[in-house]
Amino acid sequence: MKEYELVVGMEIHAQLLTKTKFFCSCPSRFGDAPNTNTCPVCLSHPGTLPVINKAAIEKVIKAGVAFNCTINPVSIFARKNYFYPDLPKGYQISQYESPICSDGYFEILTKNGEMKKIRIRRIHLEEDAGKLMHENFRNSSLVDLNRAGTPLMEMVTEPDFSSSDEVHDFLTQLRRILRYLNVCDGNMEEGSLRCEPNISIRPPGTSELGVKVELKNINSFKAAKRGIEHEYRRQVLSLDMGEKLLQQTRGWDDNKGESFLMRVKEDAHDYRYFPDPDLLPLKVPQSLTDTVKASMEELPEARKRRLINDFGLQENDADVICSEKSYAAYFEETASQCGDSKMAANWFMGEILRVLKTESDLASFPIQPARLAALVRMIRNSSISGTIAKKVFEIMLTKSDSPENIVADHGLSVIGDDSAILQAVSEIITEFPDQVSQYVSGKDKVFGFIIGQAMRKMKGKADPAKLNQIMKNELEKRR
Ligand SMILES: [Zn+2]
Repeated sequence: MKEYELVVGMEIHAQLLTKTKFFCSCPSRFGDAPNTNTCPVCLSHPGTLPVINKAAIEKVIKAGVAFNCTINPVSIFARKNYFYPDLPKGYQISQYESPICSDGYFEILTKNGEMKKIRIRRIHLEEDAGKLMHENFRNSSLVDLNRAGTPLMEMVTEPDFSSSDEVHDFLTQLRRILRYLNVCDGNMEEGSLRCEPNISIRPPGTSELGVKVELKNINSFKAAKRGIEHEYRRQVLSLDMGEKLLQQTRGWDDNKGESFLMRVKEDAHDYRYFPDPDLLPLKVPQSLTDTVKASMEELPEARKRRLINDFGLQENDADVICSEKSYAAYFEETASQCGDSKMAANWFMGEILRVLKTESDLASFPIQPARLAALVRMIRNSSISGTIAKKVFEIMLTKSDSPENIVADHGLSVIGDDSAILQAVSEIITEFPDQVSQYVSGKDKVFGFIIGQAMRKMKGKADPAKLNQIMKNELEKRR
């Protein structure tokens, strides 16, 4: 088997988070009853004319700035002509020769710890088509035009990826940025973020590009990775068997783990692009680009570095906490309010993420930062132990009371009474003679076990510092 190098370029479609569609004022919401968000413009009735949604332009400029693109002062909308039942006009309004953003780049951190630059050829604007539904309609298909005319940005990278891992890392970071900037919600299941890899292979060390295959129907980053790996193997196998590779569009079946042929060779000229006579060239004044730049939210990587510097977070924790803007905001608020960023991080990485697995949404999370900070403060001033704090946390998930009230109501305050602690210590010393004699004969490690038992006996309510001290004293007497 000969060796081949993998070459991948990416096309990414992201639905822009605008309230209304690109060229009319219909809502661009997902999930409404079919064909309720339509009007003569997006249904392409004769005599209607498109009017550009400024919010869509601002969102794509944001993305362009984040990916280091040139924001072009003039760009042109073009008609991409093709027939499909979900496209009432018979053409899609897109941008062809003159996109709004061009010549950008993005750096990804690769698995071997190096930064790799991925060049962004262009980001252009276009409208989405409607949606065909083929299921459950007695052998017929129905069309829903709610999505017709919603604004999309399409990003095209240069073929700079040389492994499926690099693509996966890029997509993860891209999605994170688009979500941070509120440009796209990044929901792949609902189709608001879609990606199509262009895959080819070539002998190592050569620079000429091989025949590319475009892969469609990818609905997760994992599927993108699997699809690219499968396509690489398929192409290598074809060449090894002496076959000639053809430029194709193939679909990806993630259940079967296979790609299948959709159509052979289609080029840009097949779409007969021409400037849309209904839309003037789009002028983006420098002042608009400057305004958008000035209002840019902090990007995830910058926030991560700041949290590491300002709060002393570990790299891994910072990575998880900054994976969502809402996570980072929650952590920052908790840490500032409780004054202990290490504890705030531990609680976030432990309890909050655990509960979020089932609740999923931090905005409606029952414990908001102020209450968690209050709980952390109680541990810090030794009003409760860590064990009790976890109990209080569980109660806080269903009760809106302050942690102070919950501790009082449930009798969970720490026991600092010497005689009560001494009582428990004596009992444990009697109950665990083996461990006690091990400790007495110099095996210090067993101390943790003995203390654990004593804390258990006191139902986690003993003042930890006092318990430690009294236990030490009692055990020393026997040495
Ligand atoms: Zn409309």
